Amino acid sequence: MTGKNVLIVYAHQEPKSMNGSLKNIAVDVFSKQGCNVTVSDLYTMKFNAAATRSDITGDLCNPQHFSYSIETKEAFKKGCLSEDILEEQRKVHEADLIIFQFPLYWFSFPAIMKGWIDRVFVQGFAFDFPGCYDTGLLKGKIALLSFTTGGTEDMFSKEGVKGDVKYLLWPIQHGILHFCGFQVLAPQISYAPEYVAEAKRRDMLIKWAQRLENIWEEPPIDCTPSWYFH
Ligand SMILES: Cc1cc2nc3c(=O)[nH]c(=O)nc-3n(C[C@H](O)[C@H](O)[C@H](O)COP(=O)(O)OP(=O)(O)OC[C@H]3O[C@@H](n4cnc5c(N)ncnc54)[C@H](O)[C@@H]3O)c2cc1C
Repeated sequence: MTGKNVLIVYAHQEPKSMNGSLKNIAVDVFSKQGCNVTVSDLYTMKFNAAATRSDITGDLCNPQHFSYSIETKEAFKKGCLSEDILEEQRKVHEADLIIFQFPLYWFSFPAIMKGWIDRVFVQGFAFDFPGCYDTGLLKGKIALLSFTTGGTEDMFSKEGVKGDVKYLLWPIQHGILHFCGFQVLAPQISYAPEYVAEAKRRDMLIKWAQRLENIWEEPPIDCTPSWYFH
């Protein structure tokens, strides 16, 4: 797998966190494989999560009635998006595999990561009409969600208090990643690291490292409703 490009989009404030450890393991394993690994460490970068007019550096198409979709689409074509967005788009463009590493916040990404998606995956770059789902503009790339939870695996089962974890994966894996053309690998979910014993946490980290050894051979999931809502 020498020469493959891996981008890890990482959202945790604390390097010594479980998320920090999961991210470090991925960096180690891929580096040993000879991959080129890039980490977008969103909190350290102080990544701006807000989608605003400032994301367009040139003249607006319609300053009287601002539309983020229209303006960013046109700005992308003209190369007039702000430099922080262009930099992240360059990383995405080069990546063969993107791993999103984050703690689950309110059944979703932390806001800083959602903001990264809002601002980086603009129309014309990540998708278009036509040019979405199986023909999404990021097709040929692989994506994987690796996240930790507060709730236990039982809570995230179909009968559990939170419901099947797959229900909350639908908007992210299907609504964002599949929409943009990614092939989506099964998520890596590290359940309730705060509430388990040290040995169990170490086991989670070992399992992640073992999975990453063979990640390039893994088939993507079938990103259709039947995978989520069986
Ligand atoms: C705003 C908000 C919303 C939330 N919403 C939800 C929700 O909707 N659903 C839900 O289930 N949860 C939710 N949570 C809980 C959240 O998902 C968990 O707190 C988080 O996933 C825990 O991961 P962490 O990396 O922050 O853990 P940490 O607390 O950083 O780590 C857990 C433990 O792992 C230890 N550790 C780190 N590295 C190693 C290592 N290498 N070896 C052994 N141990 C190690 C740490 O020392 C620590 O003791 C929410 C939390 C917040 C703040």
